[in-house]
Amino acid sequence: MSVGADGVAEDWGSPEEPNLLEAPVHELPEALTMPKPGECLICYLWRMQDFGCRGHEFTDRYVELRAPGATGLRRRLAGMGAVCCECEVFLNAYHPIHRQRLEDQAEDEWEYRMAETPDMPTCPGVRRGSTQPCGLWTRS
Ligand SMILES: [Zn+2]
Ligand SMILES: [Zn+2]
Repeated sequence: MSVGADGVAEDWGSPEEPNLLEAPVHELPEALTMPKPGECLICYLWRMQDFGCRGHEFTDRYVELRAPGATGLRRRLAGMGAVCCECEVFLNAYHPIHRQRLEDQAEDEWEYRMAETPDMPTCPGVRRGSTQPCGLWTRS
């Protein structure tokens, strides 16, 4: 244990972790931000919520990598209430079919509960090019 000039122990605590919430999408580890094989858009966006609110960047990434024909996707999501960002997909458009919908909750409460939410089951998959959710999700 060394002690710095200011008297603060220098090797106390855990090593710094890269701040994934502030890193630009293209600097995030690709293994973490790639859609898994067959993974549906909504399961993918759910996983990406771990990286915080990023507008529609992950939707665009999914379209680019998995469904290049889905040019109207953003408009379709907006029509379901996901206008500003992907969090709204889970506030307004889809919720996990096996979980009670968290209605009438303040946004903070929702975010708190999302953090508390256990992992979703593995996505059963959709056909390539589809932007439909798999059977784990239902329309809100
Ligand atoms: Zn958001
Ligand atoms: Zn899925």
